[in-house]
Amino acid sequence: MSTPEVYDLHCHSKASDGVLSATDLVQRAHSQGVTTLALTDHDTVAGLAEAHICADSIGITLINGMELSANWKSHCFHIVGLGIDSTYAPLLASLENMQTTRDQRAAKIADKLAKKRIPGALEYVQNKAGDGMITRTHFADFLVSQHHVDTQQEAFDRYLGKGKSAFVATEWPELAQAVSWITAAGGVAVLAHPLRYKLTAAWMKRVLATFKEAGGQAIEVVVSRMNADDIKLATSYAMQFELAGSMGSDFHTPANQWVELGRLAPFPDKIKPVWELLG
Ligand code: AMP
Ligand code: MN
Ligand code: MN
Ligand code: MN
Repeated sequence: MSTPEVYDLHCHSKASDGVLSATDLVQRAHSQGVTTLALTDHDTVAGLAEAHICADSIGITLINGMELSANWKSHCFHIVGLGIDSTYAPLLASLENMQTTRDQRAAKIADKLAKKRIPGALEYVQNKAGDGMITRTHFADFLVSQHHVDTQQEAFDRYLGKGKSAFVATEWPELAQAVSWITAAGGVAVLAHPLRYKLTAAWMKRVLATFKEAGGQAIEVVVSRMNADDIKLATSYAMQFELAGSMGSDFHTPANQWVELGRLAPFPDKIKPVWELLG
């Protein structure tokens, strides 16, 4: 009897807001029993080369991925790209623009915090992110480290979340554009964690129609912390829009005991798994 495949197609390394190096992440996935992993850092493919070296040496399948930030009707959505050619020049040019967007946003967030008598944020997040993308997670860590809040969640609730005092509205690429970058780079576009946007069913259907029209092919149906009803709902969206399903932990850190690489509910049998679309 062959051992079953274990898929985890959504996680983060130090190249964005994860805490593990790409090598440590791939090793941890392997030791958790994952057989096919996609590394999907926010708006960057910078961790993939190192991840591949490790994956080849330990014998785990690594899929090239990334998680793009995108706007639709001034709401931010995350689009995971799987199976992309990470050397495709137009994609790399687009990602360079995303880095500029993130750097400029970080300076604006730091200004807002400074005006609230919380100085020093930019230096902290730049230092913490190193060569990687600066994210709001880094700002949340800063606020925790300076004892302005007790937890990351509280940092988002009080300062960083939409409409809060240090929130900066950002011009991410349009959703359809993000999808087309992924497909042009040979990848499959996946709408990430569909239930996290807190949309009504009517709005969810509008965004799914736009996503599908743009060339999107899949939607995440199993993500950490989704319960059986959530999985059923996401699966029903996949069926209704004839989209494949994807699954991933969205792992960022070993410190979060609720989220572990490869630790996911079974994939629903009613829909096509996204890995069948990956060449
Ligand atoms: P960014 O892409 O820089 O806006 O940062 C978004 C990241 O912040 C997400 O990928 C999550 O990892 C993290 N995040 C967003 N909302 C929350 C929240 N309420 N609590 C903790 N982390 C969050
Ligand atoms: Mn993140
Ligand atoms: Mn996300
Ligand atoms: Mn993610």
